[in-house]
Formats: sequence, structure tokens, C-alpha cells
Amino acid sequence: MKLAFCVEDDTDEEVFRILLSRVWKTEVVAEDLRFRRGGWTKALQLAPIIAKVAHQRGLDGAVFAIDNDGATPTHLPSHQDAVPGCRLCELRTAARIQEPLSWPRPDLPPLRYVFAVPVQTIETWLLLARGHDFKGQAESLGRDPNGRAKLKKWLYGMEHPDRDTMRSATLPLAEAFDLEALAKVSPSFAAFLSQLQ
Ligand SMILES: [Zn+2]
Repeated sequence: MKLAFCVEDDTDEEVFRILLSRVWKTEVVAEDLRFRRGGWTKALQLAPIIAKVAHQRGLDGAVFAIDNDGATPTHLPSHQDAVPGCRLCELRTAARIQEPLSWPRPDLPPLRYVFAVPVQTIETWLLLARGHDFKGQAESLGRDPNGRAKLKKWLYGMEHPDRDTMRSATLPLAEAFDLEALAKVSPSFAAFLSQLQ
């Protein structure tokens, strides 16, 4: 299965690719997009382009993921329309998937579009997955730059890890952690998981 990834950086792409492969029990390959990535604002800009690229190139779909970073409100299933301030709603609105979903796709299954917004960041998910004890306050950290620096320090051992350090801390973890156990302690991960099932 080949997907386009609209994410904040290359490590996020690899983590989500592994998670999707595990849940769908099939190899997921990332389409080589050659867009310059740069945080969540850039991902919002690229979202409608990547949604269409998935159709144009005959891919199986696309994944859109950005960190919540303290944005409020956090997403709820009751958010029917785009709720201002909610990053998941903003991401869905930005991607405008209704357009490519309405285009013909003869001989191919319907496009799959997946949305995820880890609260507060993907480091929160991975630390919880690794068994880090947040003392019940996992989502209160990472709302500001200081908190996000702390999350990085805990996960990678430093605030500004290079790519190899990030890969070696995240990829073996993503391959192996208990998905259902993380869903029990992270509502944003539970929402991601239920969307895939
Ligand atoms: Zn929302």
C-alpha cells in the first residue's frame, strides 16, 4: 500500500508509516513527495496539494498529521463542522479531501485519508508507549516550547537530536509497543486507531 504523508518531519513520516503497517497488517510505503517540510503550518499549506497528489498518482491515500502543541480545543467526535482553534478540524478543512474524493478512480479502490493530531505531541505518544510515568498529566506537558523541549529531552536524551538519534529512539519503539495499551491512556491515539479499524 502506497500513501502520501503530510507531516511535520521525516521521523513523523516513518513513525506513522510503521503504525499504519502494524494496524492494517500490510506493508505501507511512503510516496516520495519532494516537498520541503517545516512544522505544522507548512503541513497545513501542503495538505490540499498532497490530498490531490494521492489521486493524481494513483496512490492508496494520504496521511495528515500534526502535533497539537497546546492548541484548544482538542478535537472531539462532536466537532461536526470545523471548530476554530481545533487542529484536527483545521487539518481536515485544509486538506479539502471532498474534491479528490469526488474525482473518478476507475479500477482503483476508494482513497483512504487518515488524520491524526497527537496531544500534545508525537513525543507524548511515544513516551507513554515507552512507559514514561507522567503522573496522570501526560497532556498538560507540551503546551509551550519549554514543555516540548522537556518531552524531547526525555525521549531522545537531548533537546536538539539529529536524525539518527531520532530514528533510533522512535522506530524500534513504534515497531513494538502495545497499541491498545496506548489507546487507553491517550484519547488522541485512541481516535487515530479507531479511524483505522
Ligand atoms: Zn475538532
